[in-house]
Amino acid sequence: MLQVGINGYGTIGKRVADAVAAQPDMEVCGVSKASPDFGADGAVRRGYTLYSAREDRVSAFRKAGYEVAGTSEDLIAESDIVVDATPGGIGAENRPRYEAAGTPAILQGKESDSLVDTSFNARANFEDAEGAEYVRVVSCNTTGISRLVSPLEEAYGVEKVRATLVRRGGDPDQTGRGPINDILPDPITVPSHHGPDVNTIFPDLSIDTMGLTVPTTLMHMHSLNIELESEPSSEEVRELLAGESRIFVVDDGLAIDGTGKLRELARDRGRPRGDLWENCVWGESINVQDSELYLFQAIHQESDVIPENVDAIRAMTGLAGRDESMAMTNESLGIGL
Ligand code: NAD
Repeated sequence: MLQVGINGYGTIGKRVADAVAAQPDMEVCGVSKASPDFGADGAVRRGYTLYSAREDRVSAFRKAGYEVAGTSEDLIAESDIVVDATPGGIGAENRPRYEAAGTPAILQGKESDSLVDTSFNARANFEDAEGAEYVRVVSCNTTGISRLVSPLEEAYGVEKVRATLVRRGGDPDQTGRGPINDILPDPITVPSHHGPDVNTIFPDLSIDTMGLTVPTTLMHMHSLNIELESEPSSEEVRELLAGESRIFVVDDGLAIDGTGKLRELARDRGRPRGDLWENCVWGESINVQDSELYLFQAIHQESDVIPENVDAIRAMTGLAGRDESMAMTNESLGIGL
């Protein structure tokens, strides 16, 4: 069994831990946190071995009543591979530690592409991560765009992508984030940095993006306009996307008019934490006019990258190839609405 350490047990880390624990070919050897808060409580209740991010915090964990098996340094030494889900920038600080220990590591979206052998999206470039030592699973938004561009590129060719990303102000536990009552062009400069991030997966893709931030914690919403090289019908595109395992084409009959009902659907289906691992594309919005495709998709920022982390582990360690890995991950998590 491959031993996977989770360094940074927060929004992404705790979900990756549960996803790894659900796989038949890997297990969680421990999780590391910076502070003994409710997240530490959750880790212990799930039976994960807890590590303290730093030596000088061990006493704080013990004082709060938590057993710790050591520090992140110890966890890195114990692990065959580490998923680093620490806050943006700390992955870069941790990178030399992985190298010193000879432990391969997966970084997350906020870290720079220059720190890794390749950025990663399972559908688009699984093979690039095969045998790699350092991989970055791209951000939630880039994951969402990559899953969409891959099949469109293969089926029709993509001339140009234009995307407006309406982003959630923060995650539900981020009490300090905002705005509370505003609509922010974010960043104000255009095009935004999101397009170049997609280019870490598709180096030759022509893409321009604009970003806004709005007062919600539920999901991001993408408004997309994609120039195709051929002219499929709207129905053909809808069928193509419906055939993708990590795209959920929202059926008109469900009467889902926004991200609130999408999350409610996930809770109704018994999804853990109400997670939506799939891109949620409104079927009614799929419209092709003169080779230009228009659609809306919602992206659950807390969870769409989770299956990608599991597949990145398999790609790097050679446990399985793309199709087998994606199928195992999908099956074990229950992906597909
Ligand atoms: P988070 O703040 O929810 O969790 C970070 C965790 O890391 C916390 O448990 C904290 O205790 C721990 N931590 C802090 N410093 C540490 C250290 N030095 N060593 C070990 N653990 C430490 O952050 P998050 O939202 O899960 O984001 C993690 C990464 O995932 C970032 O790169 C982020 O860009 C990326 N990401 C986040 C989202 C999202 O919407 N939340 C989506 C996709 C990707």
